[in-house]
Amino acid sequence: MTVRTRFAPSPTGFIHLGNIRSALYPWAFARSQGGTFILRIEDTDLERSSQAAVDVILEGMAWLGLDHDEGPYYQMQRMDRYKQVLREMQDKGLVYPCYMSVAELDALRERQMANKEKPRYDGTWRPEPGKQLPQPPEGVQPVLRFRNPLSGVVAWDDKVKGRIEISNEELDDLVIARPDGTPTYNFCVVVDDIDMRITHVIRGDDHVNNTPRQINIFRALGQEPPVYAHLPTVLNERGEKMSKRNGAKPVTQFRDEGFLADAVVNYLARLGWSHGDEEIFSRQQFLQWFDLDHLGKSAAQFDEAKLRWVNAQHMKLMDDRVLALLVAEQLRKRGVAPDDRLPRICGLFKDRCDTTLVLVDWASRFYLPVQPGADDKAKHITEGVRPALSMLARMLEGVAWDKAAIGDSIKEVLRATGLKMPQLAMPVRVLVLGTAQTPSLDAVLELMPRDIVLQRLSAA
Ligand code: GLU
Repeated sequence: MTVRTRFAPSPTGFIHLGNIRSALYPWAFARSQGGTFILRIEDTDLERSSQAAVDVILEGMAWLGLDHDEGPYYQMQRMDRYKQVLREMQDKGLVYPCYMSVAELDALRERQMANKEKPRYDGTWRPEPGKQLPQPPEGVQPVLRFRNPLSGVVAWDDKVKGRIEISNEELDDLVIARPDGTPTYNFCVVVDDIDMRITHVIRGDDHVNNTPRQINIFRALGQEPPVYAHLPTVLNERGEKMSKRNGAKPVTQFRDEGFLADAVVNYLARLGWSHGDEEIFSRQQFLQWFDLDHLGKSAAQFDEAKLRWVNAQHMKLMDDRVLALLVAEQLRKRGVAPDDRLPRICGLFKDRCDTTLVLVDWASRFYLPVQPGADDKAKHITEGVRPALSMLARMLEGVAWDKAAIGDSIKEVLRATGLKMPQLAMPVRVLVLGTAQTPSLDAVLELMPRDIVLQRLSAA
């Protein structure tokens, strides 16, 4: 059997990290099994769907490298197909028209609640042998209801939740077409999953209640349902369900804030799946290790500080030249033309950065004027150190421009003036990079053109 998985987002808000985790796992499962990953946009809620939301889905997935093999299919473009299946079901007596009005349904619900019964459709219009149906009211367009089995259980072995069994007596006859003939959500999902030959449905557990209904429709259509894995919810930092309404950022915002795609994939992978104690891993390792048997059963909580930490680890491990490409892109947006120093600048500073934007800030100090803060200047550039700064500037005018020679000059000045390393290094850092906290001074100066160093030192 070839594995076929899908991600089926509804474009009703900008996709956040919690949602896109439901793309990562089916993608990873398809990739790790040599299968096919399908993207399906469930855009039938016309009022709430938007092209802008579709764009964020496509952009976010492309950024994270969650490439699809088929699609994107759009449900709105498949309406004819759903209607065709509806007609087939009508012909086979699998669905029936129901004329119960909204007012009648409300009254029924109230009666049931008053009797402490679970509100459900009572089957008034369900045809049965020997049963006399009411007269259809004039001029009313009926809904179509699915003839759910009356007895027995629907059961499946969920890859996350284990065995789930629901009695058919709990399920009433689902509306699968509205009065205007448009198909409803659960029905479209089943037709799609059949037509797209989906073998594994991996999705959020907010759909677990739909699953027994969907399985019954599968069986009515003569198909065996796929394997299901229902992923626990992702909570935000306040322990609420992650959602746009309570401040979850669109996925693409993490890209813009300087997170690496591989780090976000790593972080999301761990948010609901584990491979022993492994915290930091590459995309290749993830695909090698991923399986459906180690999905977490409890809700995962998003933690931006942890994501930053994972990002920092990936930055450390990343090849300096590859990192420099990302940084160069950002520098160009700030009007800077980066040069071949950039990979070395990235190598020198990446250990102290948790996003590429922080690294861009460091790198820009090598290309744009720096403005040391008044406090730093007052604290470090004192009368006592000015002669040493002039001496250093004079020495640096003539030395070979490399780390060793620069280091020797610094030591020479320390010897001649009796200052300690920090007393000289701090003011030089403030003047040259605009801040007192930097990596080793000789390594920093080596990457800055000599004339710029001399010019910045002269501002003492
Ligand atoms: N469109 C649904 C959602 O965005 C997912 C449906 C499914 O995966 O079956 O929640």
